[in-house]
Amino acid sequence: MSVTENLATVNELIRESAEKSGRKREDITLVAVSKTVDTARIQEAVDAGQTVLGENRVQEMVAKIPELPHFVQWHLIGRLQKNKVKYIIKKSELIHSLCSFDVAKEIDRLSKKESVITPCLLQINIGHEASKQGLEMDEVDDFIETLAELDSIYIKGLMAIAPQVEDPEDARSYFREMKDKFDSIKERKNVCMKYLSMGMSHDFQVAIEEGANVVRIGSKIFGERIYL
Ligand SMILES: *Cc1c(COP(=O)(O)O)cnc(C)c1O
Repeated sequence: MSVTENLATVNELIRESAEKSGRKREDITLVAVSKTVDTARIQEAVDAGQTVLGENRVQEMVAKIPELPHFVQWHLIGRLQKNKVKYIIKKSELIHSLCSFDVAKEIDRLSKKESVITPCLLQINIGHEASKQGLEMDEVDDFIETLAELDSIYIKGLMAIAPQVEDPEDARSYFREMKDKFDSIKERKNVCMKYLSMGMSHDFQVAIEEGANVVRIGSKIFGERIYL
């Protein structure tokens, strides 16, 4: 199947799941995860109407930006180290993976320098997995408190990667827990809960049914990734 056909299938499935949960296709943002995919193939997705792309590595994202049209919005979805923050300020429309105060301070410092406010999501390690980064659920409120002094960061929601399970139904309780937390966080000066980023190729339909409004989908659009 071509990228164009895959994208059409994914968009249709997103619409179905959105309608199942009383929403519309337009209420859900699709982030097409283009990590390891070459720019010609990514361009195919852009030509088919996909304008939001996600990358998990700073270097890879920064290298691809000049090769694709400038209306593309780039989301950083992977681990962000403090020394890499300087490369993505003003380049990443949304950082999905904030979970360290040191990194937050650096984002804030460089955003001030550039006179911008950088929108971020807080990543939560919903399955308490050692292999994944993220805040524990019970750390989230305190973390938000400590961010209050950083007025050039705008927390716009939460992100999680559900544990890999054979049957996506088994991820449903994790997504539900995320939605409960999302609903419980109160708006304040530098925090609003606009985006709930959860759901990947294997489990996005369940994630949307449980309230995700941002899904990050790679292999179902671009095909299985080959790591060399
Ligand atoms: C790779 C990746 C995805 C997409 O994974 P697929 O299973 O290919 O859809 C989503 N989110 C993050 C954080 C990723 O690193």
